[in-house]
Amino acid sequence: MIPAAFDYVAPTTLDDAVRALSEAGEDAKVIAGGQSLLPVLRMRLAAPSVLIDLGRIPELRGVREDGDALVIGAMTTHYEVQRDQLVRDHAALLAEATDTVADPQVRHRGTFGGSLAHADPAADLPAVALALDAELVARGPNGTRTIAAAEFFTDFFTTALDPTEILVEIRLPKTTGWRAHYEKFNRVAQAWSIVAVAAAVRVDGGMIAQARVGLTNMASVPVRATAVEQALVGQPASAESIRAAAAHAAEGTSPPTDGNADTAYRQHLAQVLTSRAVAAAAGV
Ligand code: FAD
Repeated sequence: MIPAAFDYVAPTTLDDAVRALSEAGEDAKVIAGGQSLLPVLRMRLAAPSVLIDLGRIPELRGVREDGDALVIGAMTTHYEVQRDQLVRDHAALLAEATDTVADPQVRHRGTFGGSLAHADPAADLPAVALALDAELVARGPNGTRTIAAAEFFTDFFTTALDPTEILVEIRLPKTTGWRAHYEKFNRVAQAWSIVAVAAAVRVDGGMIAQARVGLTNMASVPVRATAVEQALVGQPASAESIRAAAAHAAEGTSPPTDGNADTAYRQHLAQVLTSRAVAAAAGV
């Protein structure tokens, strides 16, 4: 289908983009890589009067270090994230998960910020942002504010962003020296996750010293498997203790029943995939 008519603006600075969005009001939308928004427009599930293209704003792109944090511009594409050495060194979980997103064409256009702002419960990167304790920096007409990932995803396709705010960058505490694995269960290669598990661990002297686990598609928002994390810390990095901890993976989840899987099957998958993800991350 053809989208409804809209005006199009392509500012070259963040200030201009914020101004354009606030002047256009709640009827406007920003467009990043367009990989999720364009299908929505074509199906006429949304018909904004104005589209504000963030693609010509250099300050929204790139990866840099800021002390103990890695800072990733919202408009950095999946392809750029995947290949960035700083990401590989200091946020291996993000690099691993981004490798599994869609296909090369989508990864060349889609952006890290766009994926988080879209907040699809089946998307891979929200669970990673949650597991890594990301902070999301937003700019609006009233200035800049920082939102913890735990507060950012509020419901299906819904975030804490105000309609007049633009997601500017994502700050990730470095997990240098940690090992990570993203275990994704889907029916065909390059498809969306039916369930997926983002795991990062720091192993010290054969013991799990720290653990982070995030779950994709186990609720209307990404879920942090805190019971698993607590059960892992202080335990030997062995198959047995990892399996025992992973048995807690479905606690507090409310996954949907849909054409791919029902709730009980997703909860079973969460346990199995958590065991695999943590074991792979820990090198067991
Ligand atoms: P857009 O489509 O441009 O925008 C999406 C939404 O976010 C819009 O509402 C827009 O207004 C808002 N938005 C975007 N950027 C900002 C910002 N900076 N500030 C405020 N709001 C913003 N994803 C996965 O995780 N796993 C997959 O396996 C997967 N498979 C896919 C397969 C296909 C065929 C396609 C087309 C997409 C797939 N995706 C998958 C989604 C992909 O990762 C998209 O890139 C992502 O969901 C949206 O990013 P985008 O930059 O294209 O955002």
